[in-house]
Amino acid sequence: MPDGDPAQKNTSHLLIFKRRRDSGQDEMLPDYHIHTIMCKHAEGKTADYRAVAAKRGIPQICFTDHIPSPDGYDADYRMDLSQFDVYRSMVTELQDDKSPEVLFGIEADYYQGCETFLREWLPAQHFDLILGSVHYIENWGFDNPADRHVWDSVDVTATWRKYFELVAELADSGLFDAAGHLDLPKKFGHRPSDKALREMAEPALDRIAETGMGIELNTSGLRKPVGEIYPSPILVSLAFDRGIPICFGSDSHRPEDIGRDFDLALELAREAGYTHYFRISQGRKRLVPLPETLQATHQQPL
Ligand code: ZN
Ligand code: FE
Ligand code: FE
Repeated sequence: MPDGDPAQKNTSHLLIFKRRRDSGQDEMLPDYHIHTIMCKHAEGKTADYRAVAAKRGIPQICFTDHIPSPDGYDADYRMDLSQFDVYRSMVTELQDDKSPEVLFGIEADYYQGCETFLREWLPAQHFDLILGSVHYIENWGFDNPADRHVWDSVDVTATWRKYFELVAELADSGLFDAAGHLDLPKKFGHRPSDKALREMAEPALDRIAETGMGIELNTSGLRKPVGEIYPSPILVSLAFDRGIPICFGSDSHRPEDIGRDFDLALELAREAGYTHYFRISQGRKRLVPLPETLQATHQQPL
């Protein structure tokens, strides 16, 4: 625009708007759920994940790969205990002064009997964040595409009820900082009625609230048959009513998914009433104001 253009008198608003954005007004949300090649079903280097996060303006990322299980639980989809130090160095070698800040976390499965290992091992690793997730009901990996057919022969509502009983036990264990993908059983589209969902989820959420745990808004559900963020709006509202703090996770298994659809997760949080989310370091949470809006992922650089 040439000097003296009459339109220039209107640009003062734009300058103010731009300055507010530059001052962090619309800072991206941290991504607290990221996998690595150590789990045998993800791709890319940890540095590649961080590079995408940097390009998208994400201020902080936390790697939370699938925890090793010395008892052989779900061994095909996780690192061996003997490989844990490799995982630790892949993450900690990125802990420098550059942005985004890199946190060291783990996605730990809750199942009956897991505490034998977890109670001693987890505290000894000094994780920033321990996500607690339920992926199995008894011996059935209900979110595994290879075991999807089992849904055809079970009572859907009774299955969800068992799932939330495990989530309540997960909370009671006191081992975890936040619950991952709280309504994972919906992955392939199997759902109880809204009424049944509330009735079975409320006791689990009460126990999450009592222990001071948070929950994760996980955008990977948008990339699955259900096409919806975990957890659903009903559950996010019930969590808000109980003062349960939230964080955000992409559940990335490849670098390009970092921060994906966080604009939609922000909307979900705001619609439930949330004004803050938590950041965490060494298991200690602090609340941070949510941004007003975020750029849609498809407009963000890779
Ligand atoms: Zn995985
Ligand atoms: Fe998971
Ligand atoms: Fe995950």
